[in-house]
Amino acid sequence: MIQDSIRILQARGYKITQPRKQVLEVLQGAQKPLSPYDIQGLLQKQGKYVNHVTIYRILDLFCSLNLTHRVLSSGGFVKCAIESKEGCHRFMVCSRCGALQEFADEELCRDENRFAQNLGFHTEYHLSESSGLCANCHKKSEGPEGV
Ligand SMILES: [Zn+2]
Ligand SMILES: [Zn+2]
Ligand SMILES: [Zn+2]
Repeated sequence: MIQDSIRILQARGYKITQPRKQVLEVLQGAQKPLSPYDIQGLLQKQGKYVNHVTIYRILDLFCSLNLTHRVLSSGGFVKCAIESKEGCHRFMVCSRCGALQEFADEELCRDENRFAQNLGFHTEYHLSESSGLCANCHKKSEGPEGV
């Protein structure tokens, strides 16, 4: 799976350094958003030491290339889970179990751009996140009578 990211980096002319590869691997294996310190700690457990400033720089680069994203509500980082489609990548975050669902929708972007333009604003990109219950948690919250 990190092969896709490596290919994108190479196509954009970036070198595949050990720390870049290691950060990708840690994020690939993560079950939840990770802070730069989480990433550093996980690498350290494998006997790899990467300076946290380096990790920040790597995450900046990866986020600018849509290889990773920063989850707004937690501030943690996740590996991009969708193919680069048209439209900004956004998240739905379950407030109960923390499940993340990533999506992109070009039409949603267009609507938002139009809305902003009516206010004289020219949008470059969108950051947005929905908070609520995932399908599983919502089903459970309906109780025994539900479904
Ligand atoms: Zn993404
Ligand atoms: Zn949930
Ligand atoms: Zn957008």
